[in-house]
Amino acid sequence: MRIFSILLAGVMPVSCDAAAPPKATVKSPVKAVAKSAAPVVRAAPQAIGVFRLDRAPQQGSIARGTVPPGTIRLVMNGQDVDFAPDGKFVIGFGRDFDATAIIVAYLGNGQSMSERQTVAKRAWKIESLATVRRYSQPDAEFQARRPGELAQINAARRANVQSDGWRQQLIWPSKGRISGFFGSQRIYAGEPGSPHSGVDVAGGAGAPVVAPADGVVTLAAASPFTLEGNLLIIDHGMGLDSAFLHLSKIHVKLGDVVKQGQLIGAIGATGRASGPHLHWGMKWNNERIDPQPLAGPMPAAQ
Ligand SMILES: [Zn+2]
Repeated sequence: MRIFSILLAGVMPVSCDAAAPPKATVKSPVKAVAKSAAPVVRAAPQAIGVFRLDRAPQQGSIARGTVPPGTIRLVMNGQDVDFAPDGKFVIGFGRDFDATAIIVAYLGNGQSMSERQTVAKRAWKIESLATVRRYSQPDAEFQARRPGELAQINAARRANVQSDGWRQQLIWPSKGRISGFFGSQRIYAGEPGSPHSGVDVAGGAGAPVVAPADGVVTLAAASPFTLEGNLLIIDHGMGLDSAFLHLSKIHVKLGDVVKQGQLIGAIGATGRASGPHLHWGMKWNNERIDPQPLAGPMPAAQ
């Protein structure tokens, strides 16, 4: 069995990896500092722990960080995480992520460094209705078309493109009133409906939609999908992607490389939409991410 030692960096969020308890202790500069320096200096809030995460982990969000020098493998809660040649990486936590994040870097010299992060819970907007949920029977056309649409969506989600968009500060793809919040959920007479998987922007029919970050187009619907309407998916690299639903127009095509701020479409009400709006959903691998806090405050409309 391979033996890993745990190097404690001496800052608060760091802890041992429970899955690989230390079997040997290796002297390291990091450990020496932690032992000899009497007052431990806490890491700045913007740079948390071993991996220098740029934000404290919370549900429905991402955090970016940097692996320690010499890292050959990065793992979060047992899942491998990609990192760039410069050591930068992004990790994400879905709406219902209900666990501690244990991040481990395995180094080329056989050692490992780990960090335990508490993922903060968020209070989602929950609306309880007394009415029973009405199910509409899927019609024959929906049943005939849906498998093909899902196959296209799954293929787009599996795409692994080269893009540095994941490193960027996101911008809003459209401006307007936020008419729907990520994570919101209706409970129908005790039966929970699906949580809202993105943020809705009521920007007006035909209003421009721009790329929130650099990326590569992995899906550009040739005709409206049954639910999503004219659906566009842009992969920002490292497992992070954006989906834009209900568009009236798509201005890019499959495989196009897009730059942040580039015009990619127009707001519409195609698919299952009660009125013209942009639904912007994000995913990191299989975790659904709330774009709103990543894009920051909505700028005033011109
Ligand atoms: Zn929506």
